[in-house]
Amino acid sequence: MTDCLFCKMVSGEITPDTVYEDDHVLAFRDINPQAPLHVLVIPKQHVATLNDLDEDHAGLVGKMMLAAASIAQQEGVAEKGYRTVINCNADAGQTVFHIHLHLLGGRPMHWPPG
Ligand code: 5GP
Ligand code: ZN
Repeated sequence: MTDCLFCKMVSGEITPDTVYEDDHVLAFRDINPQAPLHVLVIPKQHVATLNDLDEDHAGLVGKMMLAAASIAQQEGVAEKGYRTVINCNADAGQTVFHIHLHLLGGRPMHWPPG
């Protein structure tokens, strides 16, 4: 999608601070980090929200989760712990409508989340 911020990162029109990339997934540092480590893991394919996933995307979502775990290792937070979050639509505070997995680490997390 030409008017999607994260598709522009996939196409190279905007250059993010990339921490991981493969054929299906791109991961980069959040511009407004909410923890010492805050990475967004996105599929290269445009999918707007969690509600728009179907069976054909099951492998893709698995790749996003595996990428997050690998980045957590790479960034040194895997043993102490980290959180992964996907916000879906208004009540969850989704602001970019290209699905993304937040990977947050480097500090203790609170529960329940706000
Ligand atoms: P959401 O609220 O949709 O779950 O998360 C969107 C995230 O994208 C936010 O954490 C926000 O800081 C991040 N973000 C928005 N614009 C940019 C940008 O231009 N570059 C990067 N790296 N992150 C962005
Ligand atoms: Zn997109």
